[in-house]
Amino acid sequence: MELSNLLRSLPLPQCAAMAQTMPQYRSVGSVSRKTTDLASNRPGYAGTPTNCSKLDKKIIEAFCRQEAEMLSAAQAIEDGIASGQLALIPEQYGEWDEDEAVAQEGRLLKRWALSRERSPALRRRKLAQIRKQGLPFACSVCAFDFSRTYGPLGEDYIEVHHVLPLHIAGPRDTRLSDLALLCANCHRMCHRNHEGVSWRTPDELRATLPPA
Ligand SMILES: [Zn+2]
Ligand SMILES: [Zn+2]
Repeated sequence: MELSNLLRSLPLPQCAAMAQTMPQYRSVGSVSRKTTDLASNRPGYAGTPTNCSKLDKKIIEAFCRQEAEMLSAAQAIEDGIASGQLALIPEQYGEWDEDEAVAQEGRLLKRWALSRERSPALRRRKLAQIRKQGLPFACSVCAFDFSRTYGPLGEDYIEVHHVLPLHIAGPRDTRLSDLALLCANCHRMCHRNHEGVSWRTPDELRATLPPA
């Protein structure tokens, strides 16, 4: 019942509309069926598993692979809804993935992360630090420098990214060392939901690039 209430109250327009017009949307009964499918098809379950879908099996696998991360993500969503914080953040540019495979709950976390990255004060401080060190505004993954390609138009343009997603880093104050400079392409790739992995650090992304 608790989970049904939570899922019906997610601060996403589609959820609100569905919850309002469809009483069966994430109802106690449907949530109970789903959680039974997930629990009884988990490896190591002693009883008889219910008939679940292929997608459910993939979800179980992903949950088991990243159990700690899933738990902290769930907690962050729950806390964010309880405090009203997640409801206040407008939809963010880059929040939608083109394949739209991201679960709605995951979208809330992405919205939160992207909105925090857009803090102008933090961005200013990070860029001032880079400038003071005499470093160029270049992507920390692929070294792309907007001003070298686009001239004056690209001058001072770079995206600022939280190295760890907020639900992993926790609600501490952001330190400048938590922020990385990224070009627009590498930034998207760090946030892209791919094969059940919802984010990767710039270091992890760099490790996937072919040697220059
Ligand atoms: Zn890059
Ligand atoms: Zn980012």
